[in-house]
Amino acid sequence: MNARLDEICSDKAAQAVNLGKWGQLNNFEFVMNRAYALNRDKLRCRVCGGWLIASTPYAHRVNPNLPLNKVNRVNNLVSLHTKCFFAVNNPPQDIGEFDTKAQKRISGYREKLVISHTRNK
Ligand SMILES: [Zn+2]
Repeated sequence: MNARLDEICSDKAAQAVNLGKWGQLNNFEFVMNRAYALNRDKLRCRVCGGWLIASTPYAHRVNPNLPLNKVNRVNNLVSLHTKCFFAVNNPPQDIGEFDTKAQKRISGYREKLVISHTRNK
């Protein structure tokens, strides 16, 4: 594990962010705040509760349609496994393999995404 959780970003990735290669949304603030979110989440996935140490965690934006100066704030980010991230962001996917608690959390985040998309249309 990295000595500091904010070191989850490699030098290469940091350069890409600086040059805007990850797009406007994945800016420096996002990279810093996802590390804060990971600390707040105590290295646990907010969907299944499992440890986030085997691979790079995904930072999910609870409301992805906030303005750029709000969308990457820590309170809008949650740390997830890759698998849990895609379950949240791919609503047709069957989530029967997750336990009941995780299914509830996935449904909760999915609902927030729907509300977020509806409000901004
Ligand atoms: Zn998970």
